[in-house]
Amino acid sequence: MRYLSTRGQVRGIPFKQAVMMGLAEDGGLLLPESIPQLTAADLAEFPALPYPELAYRILAKFIDDIPAGDLKSLINRSYANFTHPQITPVVRQGDVYILELFHGPTLAFKDVALQLLGNLFEYLLAETGEHMNILGATSGDTGSAAIYGVRGKRGINIFILHPHGKVSKVQELQMTTVTDPNVYNLAIRGTFDDGQRIVKEIFGDLEFKKRFALGAVNSINWARVLAQVVYYVYAWGQVQTATGCQEVTFSVPTGNFGDIFAGFVAKRMGVPIRRLILATNANNILARFVNAGDYSIGEVHPTLSPSMDIQVASNFERYLYYLYGEDSGKICRAFAEFGKTGRLEFSAKERREIGNTFAAHDVDDAAILEEIGSFHAATGYVLDPHTAVGVRAAHALPCDDAPVICLATAHPAKFPEAVHRAIGRDPLRPPSLAGLEERPRRCETIEAATAAIQAFVEQHAL
Ligand SMILES: *Cc1c(COP(=O)(O)O)cnc(C)c1O
Repeated sequence: MRYLSTRGQVRGIPFKQAVMMGLAEDGGLLLPESIPQLTAADLAEFPALPYPELAYRILAKFIDDIPAGDLKSLINRSYANFTHPQITPVVRQGDVYILELFHGPTLAFKDVALQLLGNLFEYLLAETGEHMNILGATSGDTGSAAIYGVRGKRGINIFILHPHGKVSKVQELQMTTVTDPNVYNLAIRGTFDDGQRIVKEIFGDLEFKKRFALGAVNSINWARVLAQVVYYVYAWGQVQTATGCQEVTFSVPTGNFGDIFAGFVAKRMGVPIRRLILATNANNILARFVNAGDYSIGEVHPTLSPSMDIQVASNFERYLYYLYGEDSGKICRAFAEFGKTGRLEFSAKERREIGNTFAAHDVDDAAILEEIGSFHAATGYVLDPHTAVGVRAAHALPCDDAPVICLATAHPAKFPEAVHRAIGRDPLRPPSLAGLEERPRRCETIEAATAAIQAFVEQHAL
């Protein structure tokens, strides 16, 4: 399997190179040259496979440059840290199925991909004797999942900027209680936007980037999407076995379009998925895209589901590539226009195709709280505010006759304030958070200035 860029200037590269490249060198996003099709035998066998075995069977269709034994061992090690034997169990609650993606070390779905990505990086760096320094800014979830993905790994140091005093208490403690020597938490005296700007400026210094082998862990890495395809297939298998229904619908709380794009890939591989419900919070650019054919940037509003407070969805370009009939020239023209006008428009034919794949709904903060409350009253089950966006969208849209699987992207204990407002008490804390406040911490507070961060990285880089 070879990989190409949506912008057409990179093609024919193997999987390993695609993982190390992250963003394609022409500014596009990497995709497989063709999407492998599941056979009738695959569809018959997959529902009975344990998660790691299923992951191997799916990943092997996209990866032909890592020996089978090595790939199996990378997968097994990545999911050994999950606290549920099924890794991503599906539970029936009320009128929906909940796909619990929060049994990894940081209690959010990003662990599913970042545990694997950390192991892949370590494996690929060991092969060439190289090293890398990962640099990123976080508003909470991505940073901690990335830190847990690479803690203690050989050949990798990680530097994560978070805004001092502006991430939730649980999120701050999850990051700063990781004391492995290769992990550097930097609490900047500024905002998340300052952090993003600083990281962007440092990556823009190409000489510095090269000298320190800087790497990123944002959601544009193809390996992250690939790891996420697995749980769509797994959940389809579980629900098909439980209900006898062939087709299912997924409801996906969406920010960067990464998670729902993995669902799109699963559908394109031939998993019987009726529809993908694209659920957004008040930052609804993607819902407007599906419902009105209008993709235009607005302001970012802070909401109760902060990990989806995004306007420009970095993975969206991957979907557009397929919508545009795999025409990279058309992608280049569209993004040139988008750069100028901040807006993309779609033809009637394109809108029909979008509507055949997706349904969309946006959910504001009042509706999030209402859904957490009413779902809890009806079932006793506590939703986190991100998961509530997806469940609300599933309830708001007219149902088709396929069972609906809602992706639970975070454990409610990560967002106790919102949950408390909705149900009048804190969510129960899982054992992995016990004694969090008492653990030793490692964090530097630092000025929100590019030069200061650059100097810090220079001093502590591999
Ligand atoms: C990142 C995140 C999302 C959004 O995922 P995308 O891949 O950006 O669409 C949803 N919920 C939680 C809890 C997250 O951390």
